[in-house]
Amino acid sequence: MKEKVNHNEINKAWIKDLVQNKSFQAIFLWSVILMISLSILYSASQSNHLQKINHSNINATSVALQPNNSTDFPIQALTRSEIVALTYMREEEKLAKDVYEYLHNHWNLAIFARIARSETRHTERMRELLVKYNQVDPALNSAPGVFINPKLAGLYQKLITQGKVSTLEALKVGALIEEVDINDLDRALTETNKVDIINAYKNLRSGSYHHLGSFVHGIELLGETYTAQLLNQNRVNLIIHTSFIDSAILNP
Ligand code: ZN
Ligand code: ZN
Repeated sequence: MKEKVNHNEINKAWIKDLVQNKSFQAIFLWSVILMISLSILYSASQSNHLQKINHSNINATSVALQPNNSTDFPIQALTRSEIVALTYMREEEKLAKDVYEYLHNHWNLAIFARIARSETRHTERMRELLVKYNQVDPALNSAPGVFINPKLAGLYQKLITQGKVSTLEALKVGALIEEVDINDLDRALTETNKVDIINAYKNLRSGSYHHLGSFVHGIELLGETYTAQLLNQNRVNLIIHTSFIDSAILNP
């Protein structure tokens, strides 16, 4: 019994010595600091992991919401008239490109090469929209002068026949194509409420204003005056006198 008491007293004394020992105090303190640090690191890594999961969820959601091309607008179903107009404009812009390339080869006038390059971009823009809205491309791999639409196929033949007569007739052909283009884009714009399609049509129409101005300028350089072939003469006058200054006011 006495021995046990002694043992207890020895143990207590040893613990007391140990607690008072400076090295022990230091080790204990550092252990506590280490444990706190580890727990902070662990919770930080957990929250980082959660953030990564959240990020990957957000990315997955935003990818799902993105359309299948680079434009910023979501895909909605097209109406029948929107499909008809877009398909038609794809081929009409190709007609402009094909006629201008033909006339450039025939007359070697730079104006046709320059505007043909612009029409290449226009028809390509229409193709991109057809692809975006999962529609058939009527001009896929088609040769110059070949069109699905019989009206455009006939117009192509008529225009290159006229354009071969003289450089004046070739420039008038160019001006007519632009008037037809503006007229068809006006109508197409009334038949859609899709922002990306509206923007593309307006962009093409701005291009046509400039092209019409260029062809009329060429006609005037030959000493002729231009008479509107399809549109209202007042509108043509407004376009050719304004297109180089600010085509925006012509974009209602
Ligand atoms: Zn065009
Ligand atoms: Zn044009």
